[in-house]
Amino acid sequence: MNVVDAHVLDTGVLIVGAGPTGLTLGVDLARRGVDALVLEGAGELFPGSRGKGFQPRTMEVFDDLGIVDALHAAGGPYPVGMVWRNGERVGEHHMFDPAGPSEDSPYNRAWMVPQWRTQEILAARLAELGGGIAFRHEVAGVTQDEDGVTAHLSSGAAVRARYLVAADGGRSAVRRALGVGMTGETVDPSPTLVADVRVRGLDRDNWHVFPPRDGADLLAVCPLAGTEDFQVMARFPEGADVVTSADGVRKVVAERSHIAAEDVTEVRWVSDFRPRAALADRFRAGRVFLAGDAAHVHSPAGGQGLNTSVQDAYNLGWKLGAVLKGEAPAALLDSYEEERRPIAAQMLDLSTAVHRGAVRRGGATRQLGIGYRDSSLTVETRGAVGEDAVRAGDRAPDGTVDGVRLFDAFRGPHWTLLALGVDAPGGGAAVPVVRGGAHGAYGTGLFLVRPDGYVGWAGNTPEGLGGYLGRFGLAG
Ligand SMILES: Cc1cc2nc3c(=O)[nH]c(=O)nc-3n(C[C@H](O)[C@H](O)[C@H](O)COP(=O)(O)OP(=O)(O)OC[C@H]3O[C@@H](n4cnc5c(N)ncnc54)[C@H](O)[C@@H]3O)c2cc1C
Repeated sequence: MNVVDAHVLDTGVLIVGAGPTGLTLGVDLARRGVDALVLEGAGELFPGSRGKGFQPRTMEVFDDLGIVDALHAAGGPYPVGMVWRNGERVGEHHMFDPAGPSEDSPYNRAWMVPQWRTQEILAARLAELGGGIAFRHEVAGVTQDEDGVTAHLSSGAAVRARYLVAADGGRSAVRRALGVGMTGETVDPSPTLVADVRVRGLDRDNWHVFPPRDGADLLAVCPLAGTEDFQVMARFPEGADVVTSADGVRKVVAERSHIAAEDVTEVRWVSDFRPRAALADRFRAGRVFLAGDAAHVHSPAGGQGLNTSVQDAYNLGWKLGAVLKGEAPAALLDSYEEERRPIAAQMLDLSTAVHRGAVRRGGATRQLGIGYRDSSLTVETRGAVGEDAVRAGDRAPDGTVDGVRLFDAFRGPHWTLLALGVDAPGGGAAVPVVRGGAHGAYGTGLFLVRPDGYVGWAGNTPEGLGGYLGRFGLAG
């Protein structure tokens, strides 16, 4: 692990927190050659399985960042639920609506990797790209002026940067220091215990569900793909005292299932939480941006929190890169809050609805339909296009055009122009061009794909394209 002495540093971007959000942003900035440093208060990466489910859209992000193969090797698909009563299997429970990969969405199924493993993979990629994490560097406050922002560490040291991103989780010290409010509600007043354990005598082919009975609430024991561990989740009545010790975990498992306490052979990590849904009033205060759980906290139901967090980082990375390299005006950074805050609000409503049983884990939870049609960065120059056709602002689907796989062409920090069934603009191309005939949901037209995989500009002719590219320092 690359550990950097933060006492002497003056950098482009300071990222506070080496969780999934901070590490994703670190990777994206490192591959863009942007000077950045991740400051982490703890002495090591988070050790628990917590956010274990990836939605298809997040796997597409990880494909672009070069870690999708590592995540595939480290995890597996979600197992089918198995409901138990009195030590007997009484039936299967299908948690997700069926989905499968297709040409335009190759990762279309929920994929499980325990959060600690994901963070290891992200940190390894960051180190490979030359990025650094400074552990035991807790940020206690921030101040800012016209030129930059200073992070004040608990140690008394100060670190200076042009921009700072608060990726320091739901209790964000940076958000509090800025005085940015968080508005929300308790989704469920009942506390839930979560633990990573080793268990004897339970198969790894099923997510074992022990429904509430005799006054005891739900217990679920899920095999964690790619490990020998299981994730235990046990819900308690409102106001109950949750005992987060190894014995507390063994007791609740033995009380609510046929598994004996001694068959829980190891308890590797334990925590508890009360599901909340809350959204930061702003995602930006001057030179400081809030991302991930620092900006929105969800119920874990429906697996939206980590996924939305990773996509915040992915939205912000290319914008910080373009501004710091002088390719785009600083105003581009305003589009981060404009684009991401409404999406976070939608995802909060969705996870609360899944938690309350009002919505199934289906289409919307996969996050493939998220887009930025109303963004000030989106320009659609065509009139009517078909109902299901790709428009400016939409996610750019995969596919193969004239032998070129689109996700291969998109992979990397650049923009890409698709010229499908129409002529590409003449002259020196400012961005790589993929040419071919009409294709899938794109149909025909020119589609300029942003570095984060959304169509920024679409047209039938190149008119206006040069001006649009110029906004990002890309004119040919
Ligand atoms: C039981 C459970 C199950 C979940 N399941 C899912 C799921 O299936 N899918 C999903 O999408 N999401 C899930 N989530 C949510 C997911 O875990 C979070 O959304 C995710 O961890 C957010 O990442 P983050 O990087 O923003 O914050 P965190 O993971 O909280 O990381 C913040 C980091 O900042 C560090 N830090 C904090 N304060 C400071 C400071 N002052 N200075 C320096 N460093 C600091 C912390 O040590 C930590 O490393 C689940 C959550 C829980 C509790």
